[in-house]
Amino acid sequence: TPALEIKDLQKIYKGDFHALKGISLSVEQGDFFALLGPNGAGKSTTIGVITSLVNKTSGTVKVFGHDIDKALETAKSFIGLVPQEFNFNQFESLTRILVNQAGYYGVERNIAHKRAEKYLKQLDLWEKRDTPARMLSGGMKRRLMIARALMHEPKVLILDEPTAGVDIELRRSMWEFLRELNAEGITIILTTHYLEEAEMLCRNIAIIDNGQIVENTSMKQLLATL
Ligand code: ADP
Ligand code: ADP
Repeated sequence: TPALEIKDLQKIYKGDFHALKGISLSVEQGDFFALLGPNGAGKSTTIGVITSLVNKTSGTVKVFGHDIDKALETAKSFIGLVPQEFNFNQFESLTRILVNQAGYYGVERNIAHKRAEKYLKQLDLWEKRDTPARMLSGGMKRRLMIARALMHEPKVLILDEPTAGVDIELRRSMWEFLRELNAEGITIILTTHYLEEAEMLCRNIAIIDNGQIVENTSMKQLLATL
């Protein structure tokens, strides 16, 4: 079973704007996959549909074989989402945000605390654990978003432009962390408009432009043709 299977996905926003014009793609379990494309190509819309934040117009989406039209909650339980915007409660402490998130998924409280400790340490946020999230730097908030997405131990982590606005030093350490996660077996799908980021991280890639997949290949193949 692929981690993600999308067939003929279309999204027409109100006002008859065709954001996705029938895209198909498949991501194998354990893959590190990039959806690369310029601003406005349809990357966030695709992620929105997969995570049910955006209603699709037509097509099918399956997450580990579970069709989002038939088994949305099951499909969602496999996914950890890191959206672009910082949508945590800015007034809560990091620990609180992480433990609450685990709570939404029914994770037992002491397990949630252990997990929060693990990710706060791995992402170099442990010293800030009791600080309200609004006090963090942008890069720290970005890492907090990743920690939060991992709290229910998803099988696939989906990141929308994970390093946008992040300086090169931090970008490198985030890349390293994502590589380690992937090595532990988590499937990773990210969107980016930097070819360099896809090149550094990803095994397979789809290029999206103007709502259509224009290339879907291995990173190796793509680099060989450039
Ligand atoms: P990307 O993530 O690749 O930058 P998006 O998926 O955000 O692209 O957007 C794809 C296209 O759909 C863009 O032209 C954008 O303006 C349009 N779009 C996105 N959200 C909406 C919306 N809620 N209503 C109408 N058009 C939208
Ligand atoms: P607030 O009072 O600021 O809305 P909440 O406790 O409702 O605080 O939510 C805190 C954060 O946790 C929210 O910003 C949101 O991103 C996240 N969140 C809230 N509800 C859910 C949920 N059901 N599933 C996942 N994340 C959630």
